[in-house]
Amino acid sequence: MILCRCQNYGTVEGIVYDSIEKQGIAFVNVYIPKIRTGTITDTTGRFKIENLKLGEYEIKASLIGYGRPGVKEIKIYQDSTTFIEINLAQCKYDYFGQPSCPICNKTDEAIPIVYGESTKNILRKAKKGKILIGGCPISNCDPHWYCKRDKINF
Ligand SMILES: [Zn+2]
Repeated sequence: MILCRCQNYGTVEGIVYDSIEKQGIAFVNVYIPKIRTGTITDTTGRFKIENLKLGEYEIKASLIGYGRPGVKEIKIYQDSTTFIEINLAQCKYDYFGQPSCPICNKTDEAIPIVYGESTKNILRKAKKGKILIGGCPISNCDPHWYCKRDKINF
């Protein structure tokens, strides 16, 4: 084995973890925007990015179905590896298409109910009737659905 003592470079290694399922998540896009470098997690949720210049970076992990990206600040030290864990929670709101209402079987009046933190973006959507804001602040991303026609939650 040849060891490369690449000076002034370090490595970040870690795992992207599903905080609800309690396991690593495969195929997550792990990205460092500042230097436009990234990778994808393996089947156990692990990733490794080598040959990073020393310094501080923001690292993002995102996957469709998991809502907003997980963000961590990291520091890269010479010839060493920084280990991080990024937690993501599944989000039904982050979903392609819309479900159909179990009463009218239509999708046109079905809107997600979003719980938690009300960002400006969410408030704007709520004003336009595209989502309904729920009251539970436990999770930012745990909506269910509401049919405007039949006035039911499902
Ligand atoms: Zn309906």
